[in-house]
Amino acid sequence: MNSTITTAQNLHTATQPLERNTEKLIANIRKLLEEKEAILLTHIYQRLEIQRISDHVADSLALSRVAAKTSAKMIVFCGVHFMAETAKLLSPEKTVLLPDLASGCPMADMITSKDLIDFKKQNESAPVVCYINSSASVKAESDICCTSTNAVDIVKSLPNKKIIFVPDKGLGAWVQKQIPEKEIIIYDGFCPTHYQITTAEVSRLRQAHPSAVIIAHPECDPSVWEMADFVGSTSQIYKFAEECPQEEIIILSEHGLIRRMQADMPQKKFLMTFPNPLCPNMKYHRLESVLYALENNLHEITIPEYDLANGLFERAKRTIDKMFEVSEAKYSQSYWKGVKGIN
Ligand code: SF4
Repeated sequence: MNSTITTAQNLHTATQPLERNTEKLIANIRKLLEEKEAILLTHIYQRLEIQRISDHVADSLALSRVAAKTSAKMIVFCGVHFMAETAKLLSPEKTVLLPDLASGCPMADMITSKDLIDFKKQNESAPVVCYINSSASVKAESDICCTSTNAVDIVKSLPNKKIIFVPDKGLGAWVQKQIPEKEIIIYDGFCPTHYQITTAEVSRLRQAHPSAVIIAHPECDPSVWEMADFVGSTSQIYKFAEECPQEEIIILSEHGLIRRMQADMPQKKFLMTFPNPLCPNMKYHRLESVLYALENNLHEITIPEYDLANGLFERAKRTIDKMFEVSEAKYSQSYWKGVKGIN
């Protein structure tokens, strides 16, 4: 079975003709977006047919920034639940729709606020850095948020020697490796998609393609990212692949990102492990569900009255705002702006 993407021709790219039904769907979506003064924000792991009609396609950090600054009245978010929830925290006055509510993140679901409170009790003096892949209630119990792009800078910004990092143990281990002078107490959560990638598969690809460069996302198991030539967030992976001289590139990350890169860089050959690391939760959204949600204002992300009253909302928002205060100067020039086909 073929485990690699070798050409751009087999991809559903903007150059391929669309079926009439698809054309109609897209026209209706764009019409409704305009009528409702809405924008479509899409994570780069999404299906390519959704990416191509979106206003912004990027990773979590860049999409959060757009959500915080947009003047649109409505945000339709094709990502997973915590991303849409983050958009709502940053823009509470806007309507935020998640076209398919089943689109959750198993890693984010691996920790609840109660789990975090118990974890903190074991390490009382340490501040908590939470990965953006977490619920609002976990963010509310944390001191500062981070993404995979800025995690090292965020942890470095804290004066404490001991830091609690939740929920991703892959990213936590990567941060620990970059900052050996700190003690990172890491929660036991992980990304099931990135943890599908095995060292045996990486060795197989390395042997078959000895001149290829290997690029990994830090959500992989540390034994996997240790085998890579470069480790970085989604935007950093894209940038590295675009700028590196190698034509063969082994990507240890999610399938949708690799398909997008292959479509954008047809002169390069992207290879991925088998089974292809696909996040099923990211693929729930379809053009039909985007249209249905827009037509009916369905699947709105709301903040329960109770959470407003008990301050959870404010505390969760403050955790994200603190991240921007620390990292905005360095990352405000979004890399994605320069990427072909991505607004
Ligand atoms: S790829 Fe992993 S971390 Fe990202 S949404 Fe899917 S399960 Fe969550």
